[in-house]
Amino acid sequence: MPTETFEFQVEARQLLQLMIHSVYSNKDVFLRELVSNASDALDKLRLAVLRDDTLDADVSDLHIELEIDREARTLTVRDNGIGMSYDEVGQLIGTIANSGTAAFLRELKEAQDAAGAEGLIGQFGVGFYSGFMVADEVTLLTRRAGEPQGTRWTSRGEGTYTLERVDDAPRGTSVVLHLKPADPDNQLHDYTSVWKIKEIVKRYSDFITWPVKLVGEKDGDGGVAEPETLNSMKALWARSREEVSEEEYHELYKHIGHDWREPLETVQLQAEGTFEYQALLFLPSHAPHDLFNQNFRHGLQLYVKRVFIMDDCEALLPPYLRFVKGVVDAQDLSLNVSREILQQDRHIRMMQRRLTKKVLASVKSMLTGDAERYATFWREFGAVLKEGLVTDPDNRDALLAVASFATTRGEGETVTLKQYVERMPDGQDDIYYITGESRESVDGSPHMEAFRERGIEVLLLTDPVDEVWTDAVGEFEGKRLRSVAKGEIDLAAREDDRGEDDREKQAEAYAGLLGWMRERLEEDVKEVRLSTRLTVSPACLVADANDMTPALESMYRAMGQEVPRARRILELNPDHALVKGLNEAYGERGDHAELTETAELLHTLAVLAEGGRPKDPARFVQQMADRLERTL
Ligand code: ADP
Repeated sequence: MPTETFEFQVEARQLLQLMIHSVYSNKDVFLRELVSNASDALDKLRLAVLRDDTLDADVSDLHIELEIDREARTLTVRDNGIGMSYDEVGQLIGTIANSGTAAFLRELKEAQDAAGAEGLIGQFGVGFYSGFMVADEVTLLTRRAGEPQGTRWTSRGEGTYTLERVDDAPRGTSVVLHLKPADPDNQLHDYTSVWKIKEIVKRYSDFITWPVKLVGEKDGDGGVAEPETLNSMKALWARSREEVSEEEYHELYKHIGHDWREPLETVQLQAEGTFEYQALLFLPSHAPHDLFNQNFRHGLQLYVKRVFIMDDCEALLPPYLRFVKGVVDAQDLSLNVSREILQQDRHIRMMQRRLTKKVLASVKSMLTGDAERYATFWREFGAVLKEGLVTDPDNRDALLAVASFATTRGEGETVTLKQYVERMPDGQDDIYYITGESRESVDGSPHMEAFRERGIEVLLLTDPVDEVWTDAVGEFEGKRLRSVAKGEIDLAAREDDRGEDDREKQAEAYAGLLGWMRERLEEDVKEVRLSTRLTVSPACLVADANDMTPALESMYRAMGQEVPRARRILELNPDHALVKGLNEAYGERGDHAELTETAELLHTLAVLAEGGRPKDPARFVQQMADRLERTL
């Protein structure tokens, strides 16, 4: 058979370079990656045989073998699983199909420390290549179940690999690692050591549901030792919590979560009764980089009576829990169950409800029991969880109970709605919040002035989803949720406030100016009125209570939806010298061009103050420059 030589994709080459000049501090993990691939291949074969009567494959002895050859310095990882076709080897091994790889490489360059790099590699799933951390040549021989011919792939990890068709390959895949020369100073990394291999398998792959056997290591006399199963094959989710160590749970998480860091929380559920199932869920400690990507792959692993059915089973949890990893093993589902059927299945929906409640309960117990862990969780996943406030009304109360928010009370401090309400002073009836892009921009917003002056606590909401859930939720424990940038703000009167009479007089004095400005600025604002929320700034823009905020408007536009441009309300600070002066000038001369320009400028200042862009920046700059020049 002819051997063909191919070049690696650019990305694959970069990745290989990283592996060869290893970024891992812990090279041992290469074995976990290969065993994990082998285990997946066995899962796939068993499932294929169950689903496809025409596939003739003996699945009575599915297993993984590890073989050490000290003399040749090779380590072989072999499985009798599904295998790969010639084309699949080219696709799966020769290129990096995963579109996240470029992002991975970028992030890798930014991750300075080795721990960061390890985490990234886990997340991006570049498992097979990790063999090149320990090997200077890798050969993969594979034959897909049901196909007559096998394929041999070989590479030294440099620029190229070869592919060759092979006639007499056994079903499944074997990966032969030709190990790099031994390092006499570092016995720890001797992967021809039986002891070492046993230790790695025990540590990383004990829960694999297939036997991992050590075979063929020649003992001192040149004889062959008995095959020995190294792992206990425990399905952790079927065992009670007392029987399983924290470490075992964590290893399972790392395997199914493609993460090399410890999970933040382990959640177990064993449901009995008519529809029996076991679930073992994990809350990760870090949000994956692509959590907000449209095609983020999420979902739990689904097993039916210990048989692996599918990865990324989305039907088991709502989208706002898409970061949760884990396994669900159900007793009474068909092995042939498809994604479409799962979406509609009544039992699955019940399961989803129960799992959702269980996850939220565990977040709640972090909140009440372990503030630091809760804070980590909320920092990483709060923005996702808040989507549930909009999409899952049934769990809204449970979500509101575990949500927390940045507050004007203190940098770095967060507050739950319950805490906020508890510390609301007498006379305050509403929960105030402001939405915006960042803490800096909302903190400095003119809408906050009166609140700051009066020491009223305001929640600072800076995730895009905050624009949406606040409207959808509306209230908490009978207290309205109110944006400081919407509607009329009627803060409790204070001693030094203007009296009622005073205010009326003021309103009269400004009536002419307000009417005139509204006409002049008609294109942009629907009303001009005096403000009760400004103390320092001359003007600000507010929305009617039911209007969309500008941020929400632009979110909808970004999603390609047509939304009318909402005209807003311009509020003037009657105690500001500029506004006073404007009123006097209007009183003296009435409508004239320069005054119109001042009114326009005042409006643009209000746009700028909330982080917006002038409608016509060039014109604004021209006007400002003229006026500044006159002050010289
Ligand atoms: P990942 O496992 O994260 O997808 P890998 O680079 O380890 O990434 O493997 C790429 C793909 O190659 C796998 O998704 C699988 O389809 C295939 N593959 C790897 N190892 C095996 C194996 N032992 N048997 C069958 N297919 C395999």
